Amino acid sequence: MIVYDVTEAIVEGMTVYKNKPEKQPKFNSVTNGYVTETRLDLDVHTGTHVDAPLHMLTDGDTFETVPLEDLVGHCNVLDLTEAVDRITKADLEVYDIKKGDFVILKTKNSLENTFNFEFIFLAHDGAEYLAELGVRGIGIDSLGIERNQEGHPTHKTLFKNKVIIIEGLRLKEVDEGDYFMVAAPLKLVGTDASPARVLLIKGIAEE
Ligand SMILES: [Zn+2]
Repeated sequence: MIVYDVTEAIVEGMTVYKNKPEKQPKFNSVTNGYVTETRLDLDVHTGTHVDAPLHMLTDGDTFETVPLEDLVGHCNVLDLTEAVDRITKADLEVYDIKKGDFVILKTKNSLENTFNFEFIFLAHDGAEYLAELGVRGIGIDSLGIERNQEGHPTHKTLFKNKVIIIEGLRLKEVDEGDYFMVAAPLKLVGTDASPARVLLIKGIAEE
């Protein structure tokens, strides 16, 4: 069994969305004698994280409604590192994607370690295609599943169809193929996202 940790490390100075300073995590450590305690100031969209519908839908469901059973199970990593600019329906149609699959999009974002304003994202037609197929979730290796698209159609299409979105994966070490995924976000209540530890495991047989 091989375990791939596809989580971005959370550290001051890490890559954050559009390099915005206010999105940086802050660690405040206090030491009293031999006792150290750290307070963490963290945007819920920091690093590897799971979005909730509230992020882009007024009155959308909050984080605790994201079903844990959909975050644990088999997933398919698709190698889309040749894709340029965005991932479209045409890029996805060549794969045998089925209802209930959790699809992980590996793009050339995983090969870069700094924020790229032209990061590869999932185009609206790609999101519609996957939603129509009935996938249970989509993971991507960018800090946004779309860039600056007017009205955020990719997010909205996925949220309205109850497709889970994981952003900020680090997939450089992972090849295309089937894995068992354990995506374990913090048990936050009432928020629009949560950071998550995400593991892809090779060598666990299908039940
Ligand atoms: Zn997000």
